[in-house]
Amino acid sequence: MKPVEPEVFLVARPDIDYDGLAAYLSQVGGERWLERLDRDQLAGDEERHDAENLVEFAGKMCYRSWEPGLNPNVRRVRDDHAKYLENILRSGHGSVLEHASFTFVLHNVSRVATHELVRHRPGTAVSQESLRFVRLDEIPFWFPDWAREDPELMKRATALLAEMEAFQGWMSGHFKLDDDGVPFHEKKHKTSFMRRFAPDGVATGIVWTANIRALRHVIEMRTDPGAEEEIRLIFARIGEIMRAEAPSLFGDYQVTADGAWVPGWRKV
Ligand SMILES: Cc1cc2nc3c(=O)[nH]c(=O)nc-3n(C[C@H](O)[C@H](O)[C@H](O)COP(=O)(O)OP(=O)(O)OC[C@H]3O[C@@H](n4cnc5c(N)ncnc54)[C@H](O)[C@@H]3O)c2cc1C
Repeated sequence: MKPVEPEVFLVARPDIDYDGLAAYLSQVGGERWLERLDRDQLAGDEERHDAENLVEFAGKMCYRSWEPGLNPNVRRVRDDHAKYLENILRSGHGSVLEHASFTFVLHNVSRVATHELVRHRPGTAVSQESLRFVRLDEIPFWFPDWAREDPELMKRATALLAEMEAFQGWMSGHFKLDDDGVPFHEKKHKTSFMRRFAPDGVATGIVWTANIRALRHVIEMRTDPGAEEEIRLIFARIGEIMRAEAPSLFGDYQVTADGAWVPGWRKV
């Protein structure tokens, strides 16, 4: 048994092609909007917040509200970026949030957590480590603090895991999986059988992509005190990452004393 901690790595975020935006805006007369971004947003890369800019761009596209006069129905436009995005959230104009996606690697998370995660479908993409292909030679496992503080529980739990791990090793030898010339389909067949003897808590990895609309929903649901403790931990971390990545789109959450992320605007 290898003790592990669940970890979250952000590995991809939106990256706007500002030349492409400028070329489009010059055709529809919306350059002023981009000039504001140039002045206020693009000076330093760290402050670019492309996800927010992409969402604002998509929102302004809907009403051609780059500036007053482009659409005769629009006399006033919201120039303040944060206020504009707040209005998107307040009015539930959530479809524009779907343009910005973020990709995370959830590392050393259990199959308990990944099974719950994959229930969230719209706006997400998933690639999970295959335990049909990847043979378990050890059983990585996370224990929450309260369990670690219980010596009798730890003694029995680690003994059980050690036995499961030894059984994995025994099966590898018994099925002669490391002998020369064993065809890959045979290894796959037996590895898939062997994983049935791993616990649900075995730590594994998953690549998870979600757009901002989905992220807002899942952060709320999976940090709720009624949610499972490991996925709560994972989504508290994702919430923190997203608040730094897109403060105007995640700044409305209040984190309660018991760790729930409660949004100012629900179900956008
Ligand atoms: C505390 C907790 C306990 C749970 N317990 C169980 C359990 O015991 N057994 C179990 O099976 N599941 C359980 N679940 C999973 C739960 O039922 C949902 O499947 C899961 O949380 C996905 O959330 P969602 O339904 O909001 O869908 P998401 O996939 O996150 O979708 C987001 C929203 O899109 C809309 N939507 C999505 N799919 C459809 C659709 N097909 N048709 C119409 N609208 C759609 C809904 O408005 C939905 O809320 C639990 C979840 C939590 C948080």
